[in-house]
Amino acid sequence: MHLSEEGDGADRLRLALFDAGLLLPTGVRGVYGRAGAFEDVVVAFDRLVDRLNKPLRTDVLRFPPMFPRAEYTCMSHVHNFPDLMGSVHSFTGGEREHRELVRKLQDGEDWTTELSPTEVMLLPATCYPLYPTARGDLPAGGRMVDLQSWVFRHEPSDDPTRLQAFRMHELVCLGTPEQALAHRDHWIEAGLELLRSLDLPVEAVVANDPFFGRGGRLSKATQREQALKYELVVPVTSAGKPTAVASSNLHLDAFSKTFEIRTDGGEPAHTSCVGFGLERVAMALFATHGLRPAAWPTAVRTRLDLD
Ligand code: ATP
Ligand code: ZN
Repeated sequence: MHLSEEGDGADRLRLALFDAGLLLPTGVRGVYGRAGAFEDVVVAFDRLVDRLNKPLRTDVLRFPPMFPRAEYTCMSHVHNFPDLMGSVHSFTGGEREHRELVRKLQDGEDWTTELSPTEVMLLPATCYPLYPTARGDLPAGGRMVDLQSWVFRHEPSDDPTRLQAFRMHELVCLGTPEQALAHRDHWIEAGLELLRSLDLPVEAVVANDPFFGRGGRLSKATQREQALKYELVVPVTSAGKPTAVASSNLHLDAFSKTFEIRTDGGEPAHTSCVGFGLERVAMALFATHGLRPAAWPTAVRTRLDLD
């Protein structure tokens, strides 16, 4: 891949990944199959994050990519990112409604009007399921949690780094304001070091979430002003517009207020998280070092334990 070439870098990377058989198109933008060679890189990087994390006394938790609708509605996702949400619907009717469903499908009508919402939403961020389970008092010293899951975001795009379904490996801290801030700062440095050890030209930049609509403008500005979000960015599809391969967020007491999470001193806790976008890290490696891992620099292969 040569990022300086003419044309759209996102198109070129997507087509190159398809041609190399690393990603498989499904007909929906941002929803792709992954070949073994792509998965090997994802798994290898995931393992490196695990290893970094081991000395930090971290609880390991895994949740499915579904999130109870009742808890979803307590969070501000519906206010802040309505365009990204995914709601799971199913069929709950009887035989008569079923006949109608099949008829609409066969006649090319909108059959989805026969569906009703289930009690789950698709998970929009890997750390969400943690907070409702963490109600109550934290231990002294706070709590560190390692999570990894698939998430869904409705952001169809031709840019292969902007997927609708992808995995995030997150490290979350629940504790005092000082502990949450220290965790956030630790992981900016540890993340930079990790990505640089893979020969990726990475930088940390202040960023904002894509808050919806006109009301979202103020939230974006406040988030930037308070430097609550940092992204670790690498040129993947464009030299001038690098891609976030990881993000580090300080939530202050936003989640702990909703779910009544307190420090061991009984104060509202603060939380922070760092999330590595596993497919984006893999794509950054393919874009930087080439589409054949066997030909990557030895130091990178060794660091990833690819042999
Ligand atoms: P972006 O600014 O690129 O939309 P984000 O700020 O919304 O990303 P976060 O919510 O902080 O991202 O998610 C954590 C990490 O997940 C990001 O740093 C990125 O590596 C990855 N990620 C986010 N959105 C996508 C996506 N649509 N496809 C693939 N990976 C993604
Ligand atoms: Zn998070």
